[in-house]
Amino acid sequence: MIKLLKFLKPYRNYVIVSLILIFFQSISELYLPNLMSDIVDIGIVKGDIRYILQKGEIMLLVAAGGTVSAIVASYLSSQAAMGFGKILRNKIFSQVENFSLQEFDKFGTASLITRTTNDVNQIQMVIMITLRMVARAPLICIGGIILAVSKDARLSLILLITVPILAFLVFVLYKKAMPLFDAIQKKIDRVNLILRENLTGIRVIRAFNKIEYEKKRFNEANIDLTNMSIKVNRIMAWLMPAMMLLLNFTIIAVIWFGGIRIDKGTMQVGDLMAFIQYIIQIMFSLIMVSVVFVMLPRASASALRINEVLEIVPKIKEPEKPEEIKNIRGVIEFKDVTFSYPGADEPALKNISFKAEPGKLTAIIGGTGSGKSTVLNLIMRFYDADSGSILIDGVDIKLLPQTKLRDMIGYVPQKAVLFSGTIADNIRFGKNDAADEQIRKAACIAQATEFIFQMKDEFNSEISQGGKNLSGGQKQRLAIARAVVKRPKIYLFDDCFSALDFKTDAKVRAALREETKDATVIVVAQRVATIMDADQIIVLQKGEIAGIGTHKQLLNTCQIYREIVLSQLSGEELI
Ligand code: ADP
Ligand code: MG
Repeated sequence: MIKLLKFLKPYRNYVIVSLILIFFQSISELYLPNLMSDIVDIGIVKGDIRYILQKGEIMLLVAAGGTVSAIVASYLSSQAAMGFGKILRNKIFSQVENFSLQEFDKFGTASLITRTTNDVNQIQMVIMITLRMVARAPLICIGGIILAVSKDARLSLILLITVPILAFLVFVLYKKAMPLFDAIQKKIDRVNLILRENLTGIRVIRAFNKIEYEKKRFNEANIDLTNMSIKVNRIMAWLMPAMMLLLNFTIIAVIWFGGIRIDKGTMQVGDLMAFIQYIIQIMFSLIMVSVVFVMLPRASASALRINEVLEIVPKIKEPEKPEEIKNIRGVIEFKDVTFSYPGADEPALKNISFKAEPGKLTAIIGGTGSGKSTVLNLIMRFYDADSGSILIDGVDIKLLPQTKLRDMIGYVPQKAVLFSGTIADNIRFGKNDAADEQIRKAACIAQATEFIFQMKDEFNSEISQGGKNLSGGQKQRLAIARAVVKRPKIYLFDDCFSALDFKTDAKVRAALREETKDATVIVVAQRVATIMDADQIIVLQKGEIAGIGTHKQLLNTCQIYREIVLSQLSGEELI
């Protein structure tokens, strides 16, 4: 929690001014009972109306001053707390943006969302309340005690009994509630997770008639969260009544003993009234502190969760001494690369070595799960290889700044991802300053114009969230256009042709061949027809290279390749 307070720094002035104002507010609150006691003891007892009015005016002024201070202080402390939340959310967001995929897998999307929203809210709230209450409470408490003792020291002894009881109460509740708060945040994670899965998987859920099942699953998580919250609130519900009871008993005791003292003539009525006010103020300030104490555990549970995110040092680091490639050619070389996904038993890639050269088409083929996408993930440096090295133009990619590396590459993922915005926006994602003409050309190469021109606003047609209003093949073609508009030295196509029909597939490849003449192209494919004319074909089998060569060579030398081919092509197509 303390660690996070550094994000409050930009609002330092707000905090200081609001603390000063709270000081004035507290002084005015403490001064009022004193004035009242004078009115009673001097004004009323002697029947001096002028004195009463005079003191009354001062009371009004003091009260007004206190109120204005309180309002401005509230305003400033809210500003500071909300600003703090803003900064913290930004920090978490940019930290998460730097995560490698390993770290993403570790937290999970749902939890990262809760941490950025709900957890930040918890802390924000505590900061606001703390600023307002905690600064005020000690002032009022100490000031109140001094003034109460000065009015009547013996009567103040009552506090010696009530304050320890109050402290004990708070301590017990704190102990009981603390462990539950962390549990609540975890349950919120779970509700978010199920909600997210349902929102993104709604088609599948409908198709498999799992609505009732999912409803039940959500309901269970929801009830779980509700029960836990009720449990916590049941404990917390004790706090206020117990404190009020204690406060009222204290007042009864004060009136009882005070009455006796007034009878004896050792105390005046006005003093007793002021005394009661002081006791109320002292007790209330302690109650305020305990409210904060009760909120603290929840906020510190949240702070822990946020710190977990902020403290991750992304595994993929920027090089200390970055190297630069002057004239990028785009030669990619794998040297004995082995890589396992975190937590996996088997390496996804084992001792992979190959070289992909500019102006040549390198194809990777193999069954699902053979490690094809993983090869591309490593070139993109989404993950770092465990051993071996990957070189571009002879430079280890770990020595290249990540942005420089990715700038060289036009990457089309296996599953096309589009963003909300227009078609043109989505293609321009590949190159911010692309002119309309370039966008048109890229779309043309990707064979996307045909369906774009059928849309109402053509390139300015809106794409709904995630590209739901496009077919798989259409999305894939936009993703290809997005890579093409970049005009990179290296193209990585991850199985993106499988979503296209044979005719479009052939057309796209023909257009690409012209466009990517001088670039290094790596194509991952399922269909032999897609890659038959590649300069070199790498056959992957369970993370290992089963053969490298041209179509003809592999047909003669590689059993696995032959099997793949035979399962797809008829005899006369083979040659
Ligand atoms: P392909 O693209 O050839 O179908 P992948 O390269 O995607 O295969 O996957 C290779 C292997 O790595 C598979 O066994 C798969 O289960 C595993 N794998 C892929 N992605 C992850 C991941 N993020 N975490 C753990 N294992 C993964
Ligand atoms: Mg794949």
